[in-house]
Amino acid sequence: MRLLMISDHCDPLAELGGKEAGGQTVYVRTLAQFLSDFGVNVDVYTRWDQASKKEVVQMGPRWRVIRALAGPKNYVPPDQRVGLLDWFSRSILWRTKYERLRYDIIHSNYWPAGLIGLSIKQSLHLPLVHVYHSLARSKYEAMRRSNTPIDFIAYHQRLSAETTIAQHSSRIISTSPGEKQLIRQWYNVPGEKIDVIPIGINPVIFHSVNQDFSRRELGWSTKKKIILYVGRIEWHKGIGTLIEAMAQLVRDQPEVYLYIVGGAKSKTGQQLEAEEQQRLQNLMRQHKLDRYITFVGPKRQDELALYYSAADVTAIPSYYEPFGIVPLESMACGTPVVASRTGGMKYTMVDGETGYFAEPMNVADLARKINRILSKNKSHYTRNCIWRVQNQFFWPKIAQKYLTYFLALNEKNSTLPAQS
Ligand code: UDP
Repeated sequence: MRLLMISDHCDPLAELGGKEAGGQTVYVRTLAQFLSDFGVNVDVYTRWDQASKKEVVQMGPRWRVIRALAGPKNYVPPDQRVGLLDWFSRSILWRTKYERLRYDIIHSNYWPAGLIGLSIKQSLHLPLVHVYHSLARSKYEAMRRSNTPIDFIAYHQRLSAETTIAQHSSRIISTSPGEKQLIRQWYNVPGEKIDVIPIGINPVIFHSVNQDFSRRELGWSTKKKIILYVGRIEWHKGIGTLIEAMAQLVRDQPEVYLYIVGGAKSKTGQQLEAEEQQRLQNLMRQHKLDRYITFVGPKRQDELALYYSAADVTAIPSYYEPFGIVPLESMACGTPVVASRTGGMKYTMVDGETGYFAEPMNVADLARKINRILSKNKSHYTRNCIWRVQNQFFWPKIAQKYLTYFLALNEKNSTLPAQS
C-alpha cells in the first residue's frame, strides 16, 4: 500500500517548539514512521519553504518527505499560502507522473491540505481521508471569550473550506469523541463518515526517569516545587494565565518555580512569536516573577523525558486545545497534569486521577489545582498517569489501528477505476 500524506502547514522535519511546528508535525512524522515500519510506503508532501532544504528526503526504506514547489522557497504567511494551493496540487500531480507513482489513499492534515487533497482526489481517483487537527469555530469562540480581535474574512474563508472538506472528503478521522461531535454538528456530516483514532505517545521517547536523577541532570534543585510548561509560545496556549497563576502560587509557596520549554529556534520563527514573547516577559516583570520563571527555549523530543520526569506537575492552560499531546507525554513520564477543561484533553485526562482540570482563562482555578498537586507527592498520581497512557495512547497500538483502517479502506476502494 502507498499512502500520499499532505502536510502543507508543517514540515514534518521542522525543529519542534516554534509557531508552526508542534503537535501536527509530531503526529505526521510519527504516523509515517510507524506505518512504514508496518510495510506501508508513505510520501509526505510539504511546502518547499526554504531553498537550502532538500527536495526529497528519504527517511527510511519506505517513507519520504517531499517538498512541493508552491510559491517562493521561503516563509510565506498562512493567509498568503491560500493562493498557492493550486500550485501545490500541480506539484504533487507532476511528481506522481514523473515517478509513475501509484498511490492508494490520500491523507490530508489541517484545512489547506484538505483543499489540496480534494483537488488531487479528482485527478487521481483516490479516496481522501482528512484529519482537521483544529477547527475554526473552536478558535473563534476562544478568541471571542477573551475579546481578542478576530479577522472575520479569514475566519469565514476557513469555515467554508472546512465545510467543503467535511462534505467532499471520503472519510474523516477525528482525534477525540468530542471533536467528532463538533464536526457532525457544525458541518452536518453523518456520524458513520467519522472515525475516532487518538494521537499516540512513543514509549521509546516518553518514559519515567527518576525525579532526583532528572533534576541533577538538568541542574535543577531537588528541593524546589517545579511546574513545567511545554509547547509553542502562542496566545491560545494560555501561558499568560499561567504566569498570573504563578503570582498567586508564590505567595503560598515561595519555593515554587516555573520552567517554560518551547519557542522557535530559527530567526523567522522567533520573529513570528516575538509579540507574544514580549507580552509574557512584560507580564512576568509586572508581577515581579523574574526569579521564579525560566524560559528554557525549545528542546528536542528525546530531551523532554528528563524535563517531564523532573517536574512535579505539568500545566497546560490552553484557551482551546484540539487534542494536546503534551499532557500525554507528561503522563507517560509519570507526572500529573493540570490542564484546561477543553478539547481533546477532556478525553485523554481523568480528573482527580491523572491530575486536574482547570477552567480555561481562570487564574484562581489554575493556581488552586496546581497547588492541590504540589501539596501532595506526585507519586500519588504517577501510576494512574502511566497506566492511562499505556492502556489507550501508545503509538504502536494506535498505528496498528491506522493500518487496519487504511487496509480496509483500500480494499473497499479497489473496485474503483485505477489512477491514470
Ligand atoms: N515540543 C518539542 N519541543 C519543544 C516544545 C514542544 O518537542 O520545545 C513538542 C511536544 O513534545 C509535543 C508537541 O511539540 O509533542 C506539541 O504538541 P501539542 O499537541 O501539545 O500542541 P500543539 O503544538 O499541537 O498546539
